[in-house]
Formats: sequence, structure tokens, C-alpha cells
Amino acid sequence: MEDLHARLARRRAQHLYRERQVLQSPQGVEVRIDGHEFIAFCSNDYLGLANDPRVVAAFKAGADRYGAGAGASHLITGHSGAHHRLEQALAAFVGAPRALLFSTGYMANLAVVATLLDRHGTVFEDKLNHASLIDAARLSQARVRRYRHGDTQRLAELVAGAGGGGLIVTDGVFSMDGDMAPLPTLIELARRAGARLLVDDAHGLGVTGANGRGTFEQTAVSLGPPAILMGTLGKAFGTFGAFVAASEDVIETLVQEARPYIYTTALPPAVAEATRESLRIAQQEPWRRQHLQRLVRRFREGAGTLGLRLLDSATPIQPVILGSAEQALHASGRLRQQGILVTAIRPPTVPENSARLRITFSAAHTEAQVDRLLDALAGLGTTA
Ligand SMILES: *Cc1c(COP(=O)(O)O)cnc(C)c1O
Repeated sequence: MEDLHARLARRRAQHLYRERQVLQSPQGVEVRIDGHEFIAFCSNDYLGLANDPRVVAAFKAGADRYGAGAGASHLITGHSGAHHRLEQALAAFVGAPRALLFSTGYMANLAVVATLLDRHGTVFEDKLNHASLIDAARLSQARVRRYRHGDTQRLAELVAGAGGGGLIVTDGVFSMDGDMAPLPTLIELARRAGARLLVDDAHGLGVTGANGRGTFEQTAVSLGPPAILMGTLGKAFGTFGAFVAASEDVIETLVQEARPYIYTTALPPAVAEATRESLRIAQQEPWRRQHLQRLVRRFREGAGTLGLRLLDSATPIQPVILGSAEQALHASGRLRQQGILVTAIRPPTVPENSARLRITFSAAHTEAQVDRLLDALAGLGTTA
């Protein structure tokens, strides 16, 4: 007990203490916290669908038809028609023979890596990969080789040194930097080495590519062996859950063997119904992606004029690098006083000395709201 107390105190002293804020409104670009209204630039609700009335209506209709919960795992009696239809719609959307639903993206990543590799295998990871991909490698007990962010030359050496095979894993759009993995190079490398490639496109799917098919579409790489796609449903699609899309053999192996698939309750069927509706909207309303692109361009131009330190990102994830955890917290606090919510992201989520404001845009933002954010950021520069 003593020990934990000291640990928490140390965390506080290092400006690494995290606090949850209790939302009193639905997720959206305007949220209510502690009785105050904020314009929020920190959700992953990129298409503004989390509280779309049509998605909510599909959720309610799904609950009326299937009840509140699945009541069992997929392999017992938890796999409903709602899940089945969503899997088919997702497979068609991304252009894969099959898709398999998971309760979360975290579990989907654990499932793929730990099922395809054992302790004799090797997993190659970009250093900025999402925490769930790092944990997935640990769970698999495979050898882990990490390479500097985007350094495909180093990756080629590591793959060659491992003597072929293995699994290359990468974020499609990197969650904290917003840049995109070099998929054409990665897929070529995987092919030559006889390795597989797992792309976690949590932040690309629905958002990038003319039709929202994500990083594969944006980089003109077709989804097929040796590539496996993991997509999440709690971000651009605004609901909850995740899926893996791949060849028939990969998917069926996951059904038969993946522990994070087998030993857990299927997600509520109503969530699957809501997601099928948001998938339909994401496809039929390309203006959402086009508007997002305009907001991102407007922000980058404005931020460039202010001399802010941006990263090379063309996605709705636009970090402003500040340096220390303390600076990031301070800036976030100052924005908050002006009614603007932007999260300070600190180590260990990002490397030391790269603490930042992680600004994210949604199709529900207006240009005027982006301008308000820029004004507030300008104020920081002169008085921070
Ligand atoms: C959010 C996220 C996940 C986890 O997905 P959940 O469905 O929220 O568990 C996995 N990978 C990346 C890159 C993410 O950003």
C-alpha cells in the first residue's frame, strides 16, 4: 500500500498524473464538462457519427430486435444476424474475402499477433506503433525487433537478419503523429521476405482514401495476402468494436484459435446494427471526408503562419509539439480557460521531450471553430 502511494506521488510530481473528466453531454465537437461548454478538438469521432440521429436510431432498433447484450461468446450462442451482416458489409467495404468482428481493437491486435506467431517467430514493429500492438507481441512471446519510425531500410535489414518469415506490424495512420505508414514499401518487403503484414488502420479507416477505405486506398495498395487489416469501429464509425479483414484461411484460423476472440462475450448486437448504419453513411456522404480535408488545410496554413511546430501529417490528427510534459499541460490548461478542449499527450504515450497538444478534427467542426482554435493558440505564443 505504501509503495503505491509513493508511486502515485512520484507520477504527480513528474506532471504525468492523469485525470478523467466526466462528460455530461454526448460525444461531439461541443461537449459539457463540470457545467461548462467546450469546443472539443480531441475525440476520434472523425466523421461526427457518434451522435448521428440515424446511427442512434439504428442502435435503438437493434436493441428492440436483439435486446441489450449478446449474452454469450461468438462460438457459443452470441453470434447474431446483426454481427453476421456487419461482417459481410465490412468485408465488402474494404475488399477482403472475410471480416471478423472483435469486441475491441486492443483485443483484435492481441488475437492476430498471438495466433499467427509463437515464441519461435519474429515480429517487426515501428517504434511508434500503438500500445496494443506492442502488448500483442509480448503476449505472443515472439522475438520483437523494433525499428525507428518509418525507417524501412532498417526494417529490411532486420527482416533479412531474421532469416525470413515473421510478421511486420504497423499503424496505418500513426495515432499520435498523424502520418501514414509507407504501405507500398512495407508490402513489397513482406512479399520478398515471405512475411505477413498487419496494418492497424484505427485512424485511417473511414477517414483517408476517396471512399474512406483508409490507408490501403490512400496509398493505392490492394488488400490481399500477405496483408491483414485491423480496423476499429469506435473512431471514425463512432460506435464500438473492431474487425480483422483478411484471407479465408487467416480469418478461419482466428475463429478456431484466437483466445481474445473465443473467450469473451460478443459485442452487443445493437452496436453492430448501429455500426452498419454508420458504415452506410460513411460511404454515402463523402462530403464528410472532403470537409475534414478542408479543415486540416485551414488549420495547417494558420498554424504555419503562427510558427507552431507541426508534424508531417495530412490527416485529422494534427499534433503541436511543445516539449516537456509541463509545457503541454500548461498549454492545454490555458486553452481550457478559453473554452477549448485539447488533450496534452505526455510520455509514455509519446517519447520523452515530445509532449504535445494532440489536436484532432471532426467533420462536424466548422471553419469558424478552427479559426477560434487558431486564435487561442496564437494567444498562447505571446503569453505562455
Ligand atoms: C484506439 C486504437 C486501438 C484500440 O482500439 P479499441 O477498439 O479502442 O480498443 C488500436 N490501435 C490503434 C492505432 C488505436 O488508435
